[in-house]
Amino acid sequence: MIEKITSSEQAMKMEAQYGAHNYHPLPVVLKKGQGAYVWDVEGKQYFDFLSAYSAVNQGHCHPKIVAALKEQSDVLTLTSRAFYNDCLGTYEKYVTEYFGYQKVLPMNTGAEADETALKLARRWGVVKKGIPNDEVKIICCEGNFHGRTITIITMSNDPDSYANYGPLTPGFIRIPYNDTAELEKVLKAEGSKIAAFLVEPIQGEAGVYVPDDGYLKKAYDLCKAHNVLFIADEVQTGIARTGKLLACDHENVRPDILILGKALSGGVLPISAVLADDDIMLTIKPGEHGSTFGGFPLACKVAIAALEVVKEENLAQKAEHLGNIFRQRIRAIQSDMIKLVRGKGLLNAVVIKQKDGKEAWDVCLKMRDFGVLAKPTHGDIIRFAPPLVITEEQLLEACALIEKAILSF
Ligand SMILES: *Cc1c(COP(=O)(O)O)cnc(C)c1O
Repeated sequence: MIEKITSSEQAMKMEAQYGAHNYHPLPVVLKKGQGAYVWDVEGKQYFDFLSAYSAVNQGHCHPKIVAALKEQSDVLTLTSRAFYNDCLGTYEKYVTEYFGYQKVLPMNTGAEADETALKLARRWGVVKKGIPNDEVKIICCEGNFHGRTITIITMSNDPDSYANYGPLTPGFIRIPYNDTAELEKVLKAEGSKIAAFLVEPIQGEAGVYVPDDGYLKKAYDLCKAHNVLFIADEVQTGIARTGKLLACDHENVRPDILILGKALSGGVLPISAVLADDDIMLTIKPGEHGSTFGGFPLACKVAIAALEVVKEENLAQKAEHLGNIFRQRIRAIQSDMIKLVRGKGLLNAVVIKQKDGKEAWDVCLKMRDFGVLAKPTHGDIIRFAPPLVITEEQLLEACALIEKAILSF
């Protein structure tokens, strides 16, 4: 029997009973979204300050993106890559010109795109750099988040990610984030065996850690000096979130391999991509990597629409402008619970100091009561990342609600 949801209580109960318990959601059950707003089953309206981890940069149910989905879904949804279709080439031309690369490899989720980038880097390391196949290494950073596959969790130093998942994948060196001295040390010691350095320009999941100015450029230059690929995971930071199209643009760094996901579809479909130039991308030959859905016709049309919206609505400039307003406004709140406000563009975090046993989770529950949805990450940090289509007036209204929630403790 298909049971209809009529209350939030019932929906949460059903998820607990029938779904795997691999998430711990904030207790709110959503049934509708539009722009910066979402509504719960009982009809209460909220500002969405998570944006599905920055997948919904263009706002919920953006009419242009939804129209592209509807139009193509009546025509052709999936062919697999066994055949050509009339959407993929157009999308590939559009997305490569948009980001300035010679080639794209389309995938679905962020984790898949990260896996793809790791495979590309290893392949390039073997066939171009001449590293023996079993000895290729990739450098990653402490505090990283690149997804949930076995290989990717190997890179993680968060036990929630990797513990008790059996033998992990060899071939990684983990160094502190925001530490070019350590990067240089490792490159000097083992550079001839290292294919790539994988980094998030801002560590989103870790709690919106913004590295020092110049970190990315310095790291990039070190990689170049050692013939090592610089890979940027911009799944969360990319596509206007931090006030530029890419977070790497803040330092004029052009990654050798660029990983995108999340907002590439505006939250409409799982669409991810890896971008690189020919000398890297063409090291993978027909039959050596793939995905049944990667680059499917529906995804191609949706991604083009989603990227057009970013330009048409100047979302990068908006994120830059509104981000400054947000940080200033939140820093002005007179509460000793606010330890620190940090971020770039509209990717921000507030570090919460416990007060009378109340912590970030309690603040999020209180904000929910007042109509703003956000979620703690790593205990004491709350990430604030509204859809970039939010207006200044809406943003200030939300800030007042956030202030009210914090001052209630
Ligand atoms: C969310 C995220 C991923 C994983 O994306 P999924 O679509 O959840 O697999 C990878 N890298 C970063 C930086 C992310 O924020």
